[in-house]
Amino acid sequence: MHADELVELAPHHMTDSDHETSQMFALASMGHVAYHLWAEQARQERRFNLARLFDALSAARLARAGRAFRRLGWVRSTAENVASAFSGAVIGDIRADRITGVTPFARELLARAQRAIGEGRDLHAGELGDLFVCTTCGEICEGKLEGACRRCGTVPEAHKAFRAIEAMGTLGPHAIMAFLEQTEDALRTLVAGLDDDLLSRRLNDARPSLKELIGHLTDMDAVFRQRAWLLLETNQPTFPPAHPPTIESAAVYRDQPVDALLDAYHTTRTQTLNLLRGLTSAAWHREGRHEVYGVVNLLHQANWLISLERAYLVEMAQIRHDLIAADHRYGEANVANIVVTGSNEGE
Ligand SMILES: [Zn+2]
Repeated sequence: MHADELVELAPHHMTDSDHETSQMFALASMGHVAYHLWAEQARQERRFNLARLFDALSAARLARAGRAFRRLGWVRSTAENVASAFSGAVIGDIRADRITGVTPFARELLARAQRAIGEGRDLHAGELGDLFVCTTCGEICEGKLEGACRRCGTVPEAHKAFRAIEAMGTLGPHAIMAFLEQTEDALRTLVAGLDDDLLSRRLNDARPSLKELIGHLTDMDAVFRQRAWLLLETNQPTFPPAHPPTIESAAVYRDQPVDALLDAYHTTRTQTLNLLRGLTSAAWHREGRHEVYGVVNLLHQANWLISLERAYLVEMAQIRHDLIAADHRYGEANVANIVVTGSNEGE
């Protein structure tokens, strides 16, 4: 395909209806990204049901954008799509217009979110049922998915589910065990070559030291194991309303030698893995009650722990990078390498 064939994508060759469709593509695409970023922020603030709502709305906008994009004839063979990608897709002038909260139902869902946020909390599971998004037309269905999409007839199997019980993630037992088994190695790699003083250092008041983060991960593993034990050994437990220890309470770990902190992590993680190893599928699905997330099971709780560990490991890698960059004792070559790796993305 040659560049001149792409001219037909250009706005001045479009019919009025094409204009409308490309407008819809642009607005829905922007809405998709906006909701996606808001979901990420909600997860960072540990508002997992609000994140789930934003994820569902994002998927709905993606479906709308995708339908418009296809209708414009912009999805062709991969060979043609590669050529189009090189040329750069052009959609012309876009009228500024609403990109989110477009449908009445989206606004109803967002009104619930607003009420919860007004009370300084996440949505409770009872306030936001399981959500299903039609991947063809973006229709959102709450509660139970019964039959094909009422708007476009797409089968249930082609819907994307955002279930309360999967709000933390959807890793299964095998992936959960693989992740939990490698965290200790990741922690040891992150502290390798850094002395005790550097590991205790806070880059600023808002950022904990690496030692505090290791200690905090040890605390959280213990919280998880206690909940896992309750789920496995008691019937339908309700988790105590007491909240898990905060990162602020990890300040005590700053004064401890890193080897002791890693040993403590090793001990708790080994116990956790021993508790989980060889569990049946039925055991992973044993249920309890959580004050915010409603009915949760062991899979939900393990995904909670992993989403938390994942976020902290990324934060720790950044802190390690910044510590080395700020410390004159480490060679310039070493720092330069890390900086180049970090800025390699994009151009
Ligand atoms: Zn549909």
